[in-house]
This record gives sequence, C-alpha cells and structure tokens, in this order.
Amino acid sequence: MKLDRYRIDPDDRGAFTRIDPEDSGPFKDKAAAVARLQSGVERLALLQERLYASDRYALLLIFQGMDAAGKDSAIKHVLSSVNPQSTEVHSFKVPSHEELAHSFLWRAAKALPARGRLGIFNRSYYEDVVVVRVHPELLGARRLADDLLTRKVWKHRYEDIASFEKHLVRNGTVIRKFYLHVSKEEQTRRLLARLEERDKLWKFSLADMEERKYWKDYRRAWTDAIAATSRDDAPWYIVPADHKWFSRVVIAEVILEALDSLDLSLPKPDAKTRKELASARALLKKNL
Ligand code: AMP
Ligand code: MG
Repeated sequence: MKLDRYRIDPDDRGAFTRIDPEDSGPFKDKAAAVARLQSGVERLALLQERLYASDRYALLLIFQGMDAAGKDSAIKHVLSSVNPQSTEVHSFKVPSHEELAHSFLWRAAKALPARGRLGIFNRSYYEDVVVVRVHPELLGARRLADDLLTRKVWKHRYEDIASFEKHLVRNGTVIRKFYLHVSKEEQTRRLLARLEERDKLWKFSLADMEERKYWKDYRRAWTDAIAATSRDDAPWYIVPADHKWFSRVVIAEVILEALDSLDLSLPKPDAKTRKELASARALLKKNL
C-alpha cells in the first residue's frame, strides 16, 4: 500500500483538499481490509515484544481528529493484540486546574512512554494549538502575562512542539502522528447513530454539536498545526476516516513500517554473563 500518499511533508498546506476522507486505497470493500488488518495486528504484537526486549526505543503514537472521527475505535482495533504490560494509553481532556498551572507541554511530558514501551496519546498537546486557537478565550485559563500573550503565541507553540518532538526523537522516542480525516457528512451520520442506537447513546455529547459549528476554523487550525510540525522524523499522517476499516489498516501499516525501520536486535550477553548463564543452565539440568 502507498502510505506516502497520506504522509505530510513539512509546510504542506494542501493535504486536506488532496486527501479524500472516502479514500479506501487498494481495498474495494471491508472484508479485504479486515483480513489485511488482522495479519498486521499479529505482526505488531511480535514487533512490540522486540521493542520491549531490545530496550532501545520508545514508540509514541498520537491520535487526533474531530469528534466521532474514530480515534477510540482505531486505538482499540489496531492495538488489540499488543501487550498491555508495555503499553500506556493517555486520553487528554480539558486540562485540570493543576495542569493549567504548568506549561502546556507538562502533562504530556509526564505521560511519555519510557524506553521499550508503547505510548498512545488519544488527543495531545496539539489541542493547545487547535481547540484553544479556535476558542482563544481558553488561553486566559493559563493566566499568561500580557507580554507573553502576543499574536505570535501560536507560532511560538508550534516551535515549542517541534523542538519538544525533536528532543524526544534524539533521545530514542519514535513518533508517528495520525489525524483521522472524516467528512462532515460522515460525522453527521455517526452522531445521529449515537442518538438513535441505544448502546451508542453514552457516546453522544452536546458539546460535539457545538464544535461542529466551527468545522472550518478547526480545518484552518489543523492545516497550520500540521504544516508547522510535520517533520521527516516526526511525521503527520492524514488518514482517510470515512471508512473506519480503511483508517485502521493505514494506521497499522504506518506503525509496522516505523518498527521495521528500527534495529530491534536483542541485547547480547557479554562474556561474564554468558558464563553465568552456562552455570545456571547446568544447575537447572542437574535438578531435572
Ligand atoms: P473527548 O475526547 O470526547 O473525551 O473530549 C475531550 C475534550 O477535551 C475535547 O473537547 C477536547 O477538545 C478537550 N481538550 C483536550 N485538551 C484540551 C486543551 N488542552 N484545552 C482545552 N480543551 C481540551
Ligand atoms: Mg467526544
């Protein structure tokens, strides 16, 4: 599959018009995509174990998208077979009082995956350059001094994010960022389904109705944020998301490609350790 079509080059501002939310790549229907996802998911579990055992890199996956774009279900399906012991999922909500008393990257920094681990951010510090940009009154909650609160605040935050990610990459964290690109029509259908199907009702939020009104503002804020922060070593992918079965395959394959590019060889015991292992083996054999 041609994953590069969905990978955003630095400063690319045309991706949202180029990439069709209804795109389903080489797959004609759900069945073929589901089969492909299944084999991808199994291989992911193997590679995750290597990631943990080789203890050299961390993997950070960021999921963003409008409400009902499929973030939660993509995380559930793509990561269905990974080992929960070496995986952490963090969902970032409206910041708490304590979080607001720190810089906007603080809560994310606390939640980062350690070496060997897989970290998933369901929403992230990108909310601080998107929802806060669409609703600038939210900025007030951080009580920044007037001279820090200039028109350059967004540009500065993009720079901070890019530097933060660069720092992580330089320290062994592999980053992949996914924007689930759903059309407004498909979002309408999904929100309606939440209202009409009893077991989906709990997912419905009146706030989602409100945010829909700002669709164009969100699109503009995401265009800027993605163009400013997609980097060769921390790329954004704009993933067509009108067919959930397709977005899941794209996400799985991007993660596999990232893991395949790493040297995940297992640590080799040195001469002293080899000797100790040999005597442990001999002892166990004697006890058979
Ligand atoms: P959900 O993902 O549906 O549980 O909703 C979480 C809500 O928290 C969304 O409306 C986000 O826009 C909001 N949120 C997340 N991070 C921030 C932030 N840094 N500032 C303001 N709102 C945020
Ligand atoms: Mg929601």
